[in-house]
Parts: sequence; structure tokens; C-alpha cells
Amino acid sequence: MSSSSQLSSESSWGSRISMVILHFLFACLVFALNEELREFASQNPWYVVLYFGLLILTLILYLRVAGSNPGYVMEEQKVGLQSRVHATISALESGNDARTVKCDSSCDKLCSICKVHKPLRAKHCHDCNKCVLKFDHHCHWLGTCVGYMNHRRFWWFVFCEIPLCFWTFVLYCTAFTEGKNSYTWLYNALVVCLLVFLALCLLFLAALIVFHSYLILTNQTTYEVIRRGRLYYMRNVPHNVKPFSKGYVRNVANFCCGTRSFYYLEEVPSDDILSARASSSFLQALYFNCC
Ligand SMILES: [Zn+2]
Ligand SMILES: [Zn+2]
Repeated sequence: MSSSSQLSSESSWGSRISMVILHFLFACLVFALNEELREFASQNPWYVVLYFGLLILTLILYLRVAGSNPGYVMEEQKVGLQSRVHATISALESGNDARTVKCDSSCDKLCSICKVHKPLRAKHCHDCNKCVLKFDHHCHWLGTCVGYMNHRRFWWFVFCEIPLCFWTFVLYCTAFTEGKNSYTWLYNALVVCLLVFLALCLLFLAALIVFHSYLILTNQTTYEVIRRGRLYYMRNVPHNVKPFSKGYVRNVANFCCGTRSFYYLEEVPSDDILSARASSSFLQALYFNCC
């Protein structure tokens, strides 16, 4: 293992351990600070079970997405080792060998760093030092990329993090004290700081879930939205057309129920189809987007 990838792997584990500690710290601190909450919890143990159950579920989802394969393009695609007309992913999730799917020979490009053929929508991640299929973004909190294989897990993790964060926020709101002790103001200032932090997390998570739901509905990736003008395969696509979208229903169905053992290469529609879609009326666009 090279020193840079070793450093990257160590920092990934550092951020994962920090995230787990942070979750438990916030959860335990609110019970430690709030005497009324402790009394209520001792009379209603189901409340603690529910809260910590949600916390553990969220952490399991977090660790599952952090430890997952985002869809690395395999070594076998190195020049000369395998035909260009195959796109390969490792099916680590199912424990099977890599599987291949036929595609058009013009739809991949050579990565200058890891020397593999990158299918359309794949990108080299400099943190992972590998090419990732349907690259979305590299998440430093997860210590891995979000891509074709783990985008679904990522969405569910964020989805569960929101009620946990909101519940913790509500618990901290009840943690203020009115005592006349000289340390009361210090205690209340600490609660305010924690509340501000939780409110910022909540806003960030809400924006994240809305944005990623939009990406799923329209079959786009974060990288394509941000770098649309610079991507070679998006250059001739009119600005109001989402070239990979098959309609909201099919996009969501593919995202929720589609197999992750194979990677079906998507193609940019022909110029005629793109211009027809770009000039379609509101009703036609609505019909296409929905169906
Ligand atoms: Zn690469
Ligand atoms: Zn990465």
C-alpha cells in the first residue's frame, strides 16, 4: 500500500470513529445534563430504548455505507487485460466474482492515473485513488465515495439521521435550568452551543436529503450537476434536459429496486432526441418526466 493511500485509509478510520463517538457523546450528554429527562426515562424505559434504538440503527446504516464498495472500476479493465467492450464492477456485496455487461465500445475513456477504462459517468476519485462508477461525490465523513453501488445506502443513512438529530435537538431544548447557582449561566451557554450545532446539522441534513431526492428523481449525480459544463458527454446536451432521466417513476424504481450486481451502461441520447426533448412543450415535458 502506498503512503498516500495508507494516510487516506487512516484518516477514513479517524473520521468514522469520530462520527460514532460524536453520536454517543451527544446522546449521553443530554441525559447527563437533564435531571428531569433522567427521571422521566427511569419511569418510562421504553423511551430510552426507542431513542437509543434509533441511534444504533443510524450508526449501523452509517457503518454499512462507510464500509461499502461505491462501485470501483476493477483492475481487470486495465489496458490489454480485458476487452474495451466490457464494463466491470466488483460484486463485493454479494460476495461473487466480478461480473460483466456488454456496452458500446465508444462509451468509455482511459483513466490516466489508474489506467482503467472509465465507463460513461465514472470518475477517478483522488481520495480513494480509484475510478468510481456513476461517481456522485467523495464524502470525508464516511471516508469513502458515494457512487453507483452505495448511493441507496447513503440516502437511507441521511434519512434516518434526520429524526435522530431532530429528537436530540428537542431533548436539548428541555435541558435549560433556572437555578440560581453561579454556574447556571455557563451550563445554559453550553446547552445553547450544542443546540446551535444541532440546528446547523439539521439544516444541512434537510438540504442534503432534498438535493439527493431530486438527483434520484432525475437520474443525475452531484458531480454532473456541479461540473455539467466541463463533462465531455454533457457538452452537447441542452441545459434544460437531463439526458439519463427515464421519467421520475422509472428513475425511482431503478434506484430503489435495481440490482447492483451489474452495471448497465447508460448512453446519452442522440442529438435529435435531445433537441426534441429541449423544445418540448410544458405538458410533453411533464408527461415525459413523470412517465
Ligand atoms: Zn482512475
Ligand atoms: Zn473517493
